[in-house]
Amino acid sequence: MAGEEIARACPSTYLSSRASAFFCAGAIKLFGSKEQQDQYINAILNGDKVGAFAYSEEQAGTDIAGITTVAKKEGNKWILNGKKDIVVNAPIADVFVVLAYSDKNAGKDKGMSMFILDKSASGMSIGTPIETLGLRGCPIASVLMNGCAAELLGKEPGKGHEELEKLLSIGAIGIAALCVGIGRACMEGANAYAKTRMAFGKRIGVFQDVGFRLADMFTYNDLGRMLALRAAWGINQSEKNAPLLSACAKLFASEAVTKIVNWGMQIFAGHGYLSGSDIERYYRDAKFGEICEGTSEMQRAFISKYDLERMA
Ligand SMILES: Cc1cc2nc3c(=O)[nH]c(=O)nc-3n(C[C@H](O)[C@H](O)[C@H](O)COP(=O)(O)OP(=O)(O)OC[C@H]3O[C@@H](n4cnc5c(N)ncnc54)[C@H](O)[C@@H]3O)c2cc1C
Repeated sequence: MAGEEIARACPSTYLSSRASAFFCAGAIKLFGSKEQQDQYINAILNGDKVGAFAYSEEQAGTDIAGITTVAKKEGNKWILNGKKDIVVNAPIADVFVVLAYSDKNAGKDKGMSMFILDKSASGMSIGTPIETLGLRGCPIASVLMNGCAAELLGKEPGKGHEELEKLLSIGAIGIAALCVGIGRACMEGANAYAKTRMAFGKRIGVFQDVGFRLADMFTYNDLGRMLALRAAWGINQSEKNAPLLSACAKLFASEAVTKIVNWGMQIFAGHGYLSGSDIERYYRDAKFGEICEGTSEMQRAFISKYDLERMA
């Protein structure tokens, strides 16, 4: 609910704060040792430190087994080598949670681990900020690790992939909230415009085509919100179906918002298409939901596999 409100005003702020408070601090809270939790969680949640989460790579987004970042144990420390190409908050982060192979021969299920990496680690370099189609207020860059000393997240290596799946499953609800927030901002803007913009001596909202679009916008957005809240409830109650529900919420809300911004743009017409208009920003920001953290294709693959197994 908080995510929807923040994203309604500024999806970039939401994405950046979520990378820090959910992905970084959340990973430490769910999988870190007591000492790691004491050191980082409050500092991140009260804003003294900014966190980031680096798992995907240029050649390994959906197919995460293809990452090439490796960690080698040397004494008490692990040494990281590799590159993460798109990392939210990289230009401003103090602490990174990084996914790497700790034992490549053990494969993705048993050979991946997560690490806590401080920005001051020797051998670490952050690329120049990356420009994106939307969410332009969100600082994004690559992270290069060249022999960086890092700490294993938690106490046992080899659980990184399982931990990633858990984070992405909860995170899917956060993306649904982002989409519902953008959808709501768009809907409210279009609604206000339809009440004031005149054509043929009438407010455009009285033309049935415009009114029907507003009705569809409201219905799609409300359904996205209901799915997100239902999935969040399922996760809080440790329901077995919760990962399925969060995949459904992300899939539906992200595809709904791309329709909503399209309808919104049609209502604003020429004035919406101008650079700098609110609807132009919503239009650019919305596409992110279908792409990030498990594309729509992968949500469908997960949902159908789950459903087939359930029927069997
Ligand atoms: C703005 C932004 C911020 C990001 N922030 C972060 C971050 O903070 N940390 C981080 O680690 N990463 C981040 N990413 C990376 C993001 O996680 C990946 O872009 C995303 O996981 C998709 O991977 P990909 O781009 O490599 O697509 P690919 O994996 O190359 O997929 C390309 C296409 O192939 C399809 N496809 C692939 N495999 C299958 C299959 N088996 N079946 C059907 N279709 C398939 C996909 O659905 C997609 O349509 C960010 C990306 C963006 C754009």
